[in-house]
Amino acid sequence: MRVYLDHNATSPVRDEVVESMIRVLRGVHGNPSSAHEEGRAARAAVDRARESVASLIGVESEDVLFTAGATEANNTLLLGLLGMRSDVARHLVTSAAEHPSVEAPLEALERQGWRVTRVEVDSDGLLDEAQFEAAIEPDTALVSVLWANNETGVLQPMGRIVTLARDRGIPIHADATQAVGKLPIDLREIPIDFLSLSAHKFNGPKGVGCLIARGDPAIEPILRGGPQERGRRGGTENVAAIVGLGVACELAERELPARMRDYAALRDQLWEGIQAKIPSVQRNGSVDRVLPNTLNVEFAGAAGELLLQALDVEGIAVSSGAACHSGSIEPSKVLIAMGRSPEAARGSLRFSVGHGNDAAQIDYALSLLPDRVERARQAVGA
Ligand code: PMP
Repeated sequence: MRVYLDHNATSPVRDEVVESMIRVLRGVHGNPSSAHEEGRAARAAVDRARESVASLIGVESEDVLFTAGATEANNTLLLGLLGMRSDVARHLVTSAAEHPSVEAPLEALERQGWRVTRVEVDSDGLLDEAQFEAAIEPDTALVSVLWANNETGVLQPMGRIVTLARDRGIPIHADATQAVGKLPIDLREIPIDFLSLSAHKFNGPKGVGCLIARGDPAIEPILRGGPQERGRRGGTENVAAIVGLGVACELAERELPARMRDYAALRDQLWEGIQAKIPSVQRNGSVDRVLPNTLNVEFAGAAGELLLQALDVEGIAVSSGAACHSGSIEPSKVLIAMGRSPEAARGSLRFSVGHGNDAAQIDYALSLLPDRVERARQAVGA
């Protein structure tokens, strides 16, 4: 049996999505830019997907700019909107626990002379609102915040952040890659200007996503050489993937309340079992302001990488949140930013549930975890 508990890394593609993509690959072969019937059919498929994305997020379909995922969306915004403009103040506010696809373009902007203020997070992984407010300058060009953290699932107080920025007329970007499909996100209620998402995090295909850019801002393309996406992203559209994204959005819109309930029940079952069966465990990140599907746990004194491998052998897929750089295991930057020691970060695992998981699978994981944690602790002590 395989028990996949790593849905924040990527999630299985739903059958409805696969079928929609096969229909396109088999039957809709036109180029959306072509003026003939085949081209019009492909254009119609892309347009329908655009409407499905727009409907899920609560924006206009013209606000949706298709990309090859959230990495490209984040780069398009930070480098395509800001990096090429000289008319804005070169200052940005963000958090100290951003995803690398935001952090790396920010570092590129810094090399061009931009100033970036990275507001610290507290031990729960939450941004301090007063510090955030103090970081904003009158002519800050953009505020960019990771809505839901991929490692801990912690949700930033977006409502407050939006108010602070809007009051000063500063545009806001949210990397909502982990939030979309797991939480209600309605930009009619929360006036965010830019938002990034990626289909494969909510049961769509990999390599497709979008940047929501409201109000038709002048975005310089990163990929030049074609009129696609109204000149903002050159290259023939990946029609099948875009259609798959659209169907994933339709499913998310229909199923969101049930998903949130079911994911939270499985996540809580796992956490209650871990607490009951394993000593010296601690949850990383806020318990109330967190995605319904994510549980990040420190198993004090255990080697997380060993635990991950031991669980994999038994059919259980989880994530350590650590990146392996040239042979040495780097502790998670997100947990370090929350004040955890490198040892505590190395002993932490992320469990993220999603489509296809059930209570019996969680029981199976719980039947193995205590013994494997014990061994991973002895390995460190040895
Ligand atoms: N932002 C966040 C918060 C993510 O979790 C990810 C994927 N790990 C990305 C951006 C990048 O998404 P993609 O790899 O699909 O471009």
